[in-house]
Amino acid sequence: MNGSGLRVAVVGAGMAGATCARFLADAGLQVRLFEKSRGVGGRLATRRAAWTAADGAARRACFDHGAPGFSAHVPEFVRYVEQAARDGLLARWQPRIAPGSYAPLDEPALWLPTPDMPAWCRALLSGLPLHCGCVVDALRQGPGGWRLESAGSTLGEGFDAVLLALPLPQAAALLRPHRPEWAQRAEALPMLPGWALMGVTEDAQPAPAWDLAWPTSGPLARIVRNDAKPGRERVEGQAHWVVHATADWSRTHLEAPAAEVRAALQSALAVWLGRPLAWQHAAVHRWRHASVPRATHPAAPVAAVTPGRCWWDSASGLGVCGDALGGAGVEGAWCSARALAELVIRHGPGSQAQGRVASLPLAQP
Ligand SMILES: Cc1cc2nc3c(=O)[nH]c(=O)nc-3n(C[C@H](O)[C@H](O)[C@H](O)COP(=O)(O)OP(=O)(O)OC[C@H]3O[C@@H](n4cnc5c(N)ncnc54)[C@H](O)[C@@H]3O)c2cc1C
Repeated sequence: MNGSGLRVAVVGAGMAGATCARFLADAGLQVRLFEKSRGVGGRLATRRAAWTAADGAARRACFDHGAPGFSAHVPEFVRYVEQAARDGLLARWQPRIAPGSYAPLDEPALWLPTPDMPAWCRALLSGLPLHCGCVVDALRQGPGGWRLESAGSTLGEGFDAVLLALPLPQAAALLRPHRPEWAQRAEALPMLPGWALMGVTEDAQPAPAWDLAWPTSGPLARIVRNDAKPGRERVEGQAHWVVHATADWSRTHLEAPAAEVRAALQSALAVWLGRPLAWQHAAVHRWRHASVPRATHPAAPVAAVTPGRCWWDSASGLGVCGDALGGAGVEGAWCSARALAELVIRHGPGSQAQGRVASLPLAQP
């Protein structure tokens, strides 16, 4: 069955939601997106900061405070990424790794959107109806189709299908009235928290001969020279840092005041660098659901917990995709969204596959 003409609501405009929406729209479905933030991208995020320097001058900087970049292995995703690079949406970054780092990178280079992290999602969503600043907090199903609500008001209605592209713990509340067993599974899948420090220091010393560090101990998981990335601004006399705390440290300090976390991470960075830092600006961001543990990724264990790369109930027209179902990371989010879009196109709501909770392997290269 071809799903052409179906009205589909996608909740969440991160990598998974944007990918799914684009595939569905290209197949002729009528797609509308609902996103709680002011902009798109989700954890592909860039923060713009403005502050007044000691000399009274207005300063600005940008920090990629979510995923710093991503890798691509699944052949279909590799091809997609390479096309996006040819279209000028992605750049290849080969960071110089700091001595003494452990080496979690499975390849020497990372992909990243330019000029900022949400840019790829913005491009994917170009021309599609998008409602930002909408927290979807209830889904209702009636004879006229699905209705999306926020604080008791209707955001949109008359949808044949609703697809949730949210971190699973956030999707759970929306799923509970309709698929309680999915909600239970969504809550059970662990996601790791992460505090991120974004800051600018005076760079009087020669810049370090590295762009990315993976400390082997202490509270810091990853240190990124944001201004070393392709397409990011480099300012003479400044160093732009994005520092990610480990999941363990972040969990322990999850509810700590931001000022305390900021001071602790600034101090940890100075200790790791072995020199004091002159900060011009610093801020922190808490990701409650930063990432899926890699240990659960290498596909098999995740597949054992979930029925595939996405969840799709063709009888009700309810679907779920995201990094946790696709494996992990940006690639996982894309794979999951791709799989869900294909299911909706092939087995749209009310199709022969009624009531089936379906999963579909990715097309073979
Ligand atoms: C600090 C950090 C470091 C990372 N490092 C890497 C890395 O090195 N490599 C890698 O591949 N990946 C990394 N990731 C993970 C990667 O960013 C994610 O796996 C991927 O971006 C997830 O995409 P998604 O679309 O599934 O979810 P998200 O990007 O979280 O998108 C979900 C969207 O749904 C919206 N939303 C949530 N609830 C609602 C609601 N009720 N109503 C409406 N909208 C809602 C959110 O605002 C968000 O925009 C990192 C993430 C973080 C935070």
